Amino acid sequence: MRAPHVFIETFGCQMNEYDTELVRSILKDKGYRFTDLADMADIVLLNTCAIRENAHNKVYGHLGALKPLKEDKGLVIGVLGCMAQNLKKDLMESESLIDVLAGPDSYRSLPELLEKAVAGRKGMAVDLSEYETYADITPDRVEGVTAWIAVMRGCDNFCTFCVVPYTRGRERSRDFDGVLREAEALAASGCRQVTLLGQNVNSYRDGVRDFADLLLAVADIQGIERVRFTSPHPKDFPDKLLEAVATHPRICKHIHLPLQAGNDRILRLMDRTYTRAEYRALVARIRTRCPEIVLTTDIIAGFCSETDAEFAETEDLVRQVEYHSAYIFKYSERKNTIAARKYADDVPDAVKAARVTRLVELQRAISLKKNREMIGKTVAVLVEGEGKRSPDQWMGRTDGNLVTVFPKGGSAPVKPGSLASVRVTDASATTLYGQLA
Ligand code: SAM
Ligand code: SF4
Repeated sequence: MRAPHVFIETFGCQMNEYDTELVRSILKDKGYRFTDLADMADIVLLNTCAIRENAHNKVYGHLGALKPLKEDKGLVIGVLGCMAQNLKKDLMESESLIDVLAGPDSYRSLPELLEKAVAGRKGMAVDLSEYETYADITPDRVEGVTAWIAVMRGCDNFCTFCVVPYTRGRERSRDFDGVLREAEALAASGCRQVTLLGQNVNSYRDGVRDFADLLLAVADIQGIERVRFTSPHPKDFPDKLLEAVATHPRICKHIHLPLQAGNDRILRLMDRTYTRAEYRALVARIRTRCPEIVLTTDIIAGFCSETDAEFAETEDLVRQVEYHSAYIFKYSERKNTIAARKYADDVPDAVKAARVTRLVELQRAISLKKNREMIGKTVAVLVEGEGKRSPDQWMGRTDGNLVTVFPKGGSAPVKPGSLASVRVTDASATTLYGQLA
């Protein structure tokens, strides 16, 4: 009998991409095969994100598009991830297209759920676990130059706007040695850069060992050229971690430091547990210890009751800090969160949209200025593959995570995984352009 073919589509963050690799591994072990085409699949799995409304709407759009396949050939449809977790009842009741729901802590049940679904029985597994880290499962990755390792799962912070603690559950760390073994195996398979992932990576703990210990140990693995991490929470960025970033040559000089808002009242409403002044002091401490650091951030515009003057304080902080880049989001109320229960989502949509536009434009100008400051410098670029626009170019990233494109050719042999020395000759707000030095 032909093994069932599975098509998985992933929405949302790097953690979801990583979870898709875990799911592939779990299903492959049970004999499932994979296809890149939904039309060819017997089973379609949507690995979803519930963080923002548009991620959410996209999933509903995709479900609608799968309807004809379901009707024509009895396609089995599964919804995985955060949306499955958060919207379990609604999805099962209102969307008869769905056969299987599995939350982020329930992927081990997928083979059984799918087997039943193929036999015509719908099912779901959405319980959250205090322990599940999938530590014994090696993700089924596409072999390449870069890879992610989730070192912790869940989050205990309960920022009032955020659905993650409800969809991904309580914070738990993977064991230290397990992470090292995974990174060693990656290095042996040719991977050159590892990104350590967690919703709140600096809360990582394994007994007495903390995140800085883990980062340093991964950076010392033979063959790993670069280690990155995302995201640390600004409330607890210890000196030990900063020291590791500043001094270890293979720990990238890039910190993603989510700000969310630049006004103290809004930060308090969000329960971020730092003030504007504390955040600025942290930025100053980071920049003093490591002047070449590249800082990036996340910002939410239009949180509950945010006034024009309060938003202007966020703009002002963005001007002062001069991030290299920023993800800027329009606040969208998420079911079950503290903000949804306690505060009115009262900033009109048009105002939110206008604030996002202003911030995006401001950040674009800053990004362009900062990238243009790189012109004339020579940077080490870890080559990831061919440029998107032309097969005659290589694309890679600097230590600070700046995307860099340069023409192939020249005497030095360059291939994916090479660390190329590139002289920057031009820059846009998003990309550095250069020549092999
Ligand atoms: N753990 C990280 C932190 O502490 O900032 C962020 C994780 S969250 C998955 C990624 C980003 O999504 C957040 O930093 C925030 O800017 C954005 N986000 C989360 N909930 C949101 C909401 N309800 N509306 C708009 N943006 C949201
Ligand atoms: Fe969400 Fe806050 Fe946890 Fe980040 S730290 S995942 S924003 S609750």
